[in-house]
Amino acid sequence: MRTNEFDVIIIGGGIIGTATGYYLSKRRKRVLLLEKKYLGSGSTGRCIGGIRAQFSTETTIKVAMKSVDLFRSMENEFGFSVDWHPSGYLFLAYSEEKKQSFLDIIQLQNNLGLDVRFLTAQDIKSKFNYINTDGVLGGTFCPTDGQADPFYVLKGYMKGINNAGNVIKTHSEVVGIDNHVSDLFEVTTKSGEKFYAPQVLNSAGPNSKSVGEFAGINLPVEPERHESLITEGIEFREIPMIVDYRPDGCYFIQRKTGQIIGCYTPEKRVPGNDVGSTFEFLTEMPRRLIRLIPSLESLAILRQWAGSYTVTPDGNPIVDKTEIPGYYVSTAMCGHGFMLGPALGKLMADYMIDDEWPYDMSEFAYNRNFQKAAEALG
Ligand SMILES: Cc1cc2nc3c(=O)[nH]c(=O)nc-3n(C[C@H](O)[C@H](O)[C@H](O)COP(=O)(O)OP(=O)(O)OC[C@H]3O[C@@H](n4cnc5c(N)ncnc54)[C@H](O)[C@@H]3O)c2cc1C
Repeated sequence: MRTNEFDVIIIGGGIIGTATGYYLSKRRKRVLLLEKKYLGSGSTGRCIGGIRAQFSTETTIKVAMKSVDLFRSMENEFGFSVDWHPSGYLFLAYSEEKKQSFLDIIQLQNNLGLDVRFLTAQDIKSKFNYINTDGVLGGTFCPTDGQADPFYVLKGYMKGINNAGNVIKTHSEVVGIDNHVSDLFEVTTKSGEKFYAPQVLNSAGPNSKSVGEFAGINLPVEPERHESLITEGIEFREIPMIVDYRPDGCYFIQRKTGQIIGCYTPEKRVPGNDVGSTFEFLTEMPRRLIRLIPSLESLAILRQWAGSYTVTPDGNPIVDKTEIPGYYVSTAMCGHGFMLGPALGKLMADYMIDDEWPYDMSEFAYNRNFQKAAEALG
């Protein structure tokens, strides 16, 4: 094999590209990962580290439960902590419709072995006495959901890829993919370097559409801006990820450092690659946060930023092979890529080698009907 020839070329060094590269490396594949900037420079380094298995469909619940297992074992596997902590996720319902949908989904979650409990407003008040439960009709709590630090997770995958003798090239933007060179893909970077492999994986997150176009692949995905902020630290009270499902709701968690980190989904979506921050978010997010936990009123905000969710019309990722033999995609993780990443990395690595899934993955298929409603707990 030439030095610029590999078994697999991965495009994108976020959670998806690095996790897949890690598991391919474990199965002794020769891997090259090309990253435009630095690892985590895309959405992964901008996420808030929440990890949950409370989803609404069988496939996503299974994938997410596997990811939680993998996060749990990372300290052991990597030899250092990734700040995994099972602080739980608390979903709050403010309408009868949302409450009923929680109750409907719990059955499926419990049948799949996930410990999700329905809590009345009184239960919530007694378990989390700092929450203002005005208007809350109930909620669900999963104590095995949690959080981890995205940068430590990327570091673990990076070391695993390097230790296997594989190659990560940062500041190497892919600008072309030619699939007619002796049964190999020829992948060209901005600096003019060329690399060859029989398999490529497009895990370029917000840029996966344009990276797909290099080879004539049309992905129904687009990035949209999501903002976030982090406060100074306070005593660690193990505040779970609280997800307020009101139209002007928000979601936030207390990190192990004591800081509160959170976001809200803008009522009017902001499509495109803009990752600039707004004054509106800086003033509105604290209002929503303090409405839920009034005792946080005097906290200082340290920093705000924004990043992209890469979204599909049905809100599910695309994790599959394509019509071009050897060209795979793992993208459009919406707001769930960090939590699903470890399991999807392992699933995709095995799929690229064995050509079969361990269970039905049609929900994430490349050629599915994207107009069907999918994930209810987005
Ligand atoms: C504010 C915010 C909060 C979030 N909170 C959470 C959360 O709590 N939990 C959760 O699970 N998810 C969360 N997410 C979503 C999560 O961040 C994403 O789903 C996830 O990071 C996607 O990972 P990825 O590897 O697909 O993409 P990315 O991390 O974006 O990685 C793609 C990489 O590809 C590189 N790239 C692009 N084009 C090229 C090219 N041509 N050549 C080479 N490299 C290229 C980019 O530089 C980038 O590093 C959040 C997102 C945001 C914005």
